[in-house]
Amino acid sequence: MVENKNLYACKDHIEVALDDYINFEENAPYMVEVSDEEQVVCSYCEQKAKYKLLS
Ligand SMILES: [Zn+2]
Repeated sequence: MVENKNLYACKDHIEVALDDYINFEENAPYMVEVSDEEQVVCSYCEQKAKYKLLS
């Protein structure tokens, strides 16, 4: 994972994303819901992201 890169996750991958984040950062992320205006895709699949993980 690139440092300071935000992780995005759809509802199916939020648990994987949280695990990955904690493994890499050794810290719990700040999780925010992605608004409908933001066109971002999940970091694990092609679906629209629903959550964003911030440090
Ligand atoms: Zn996904």
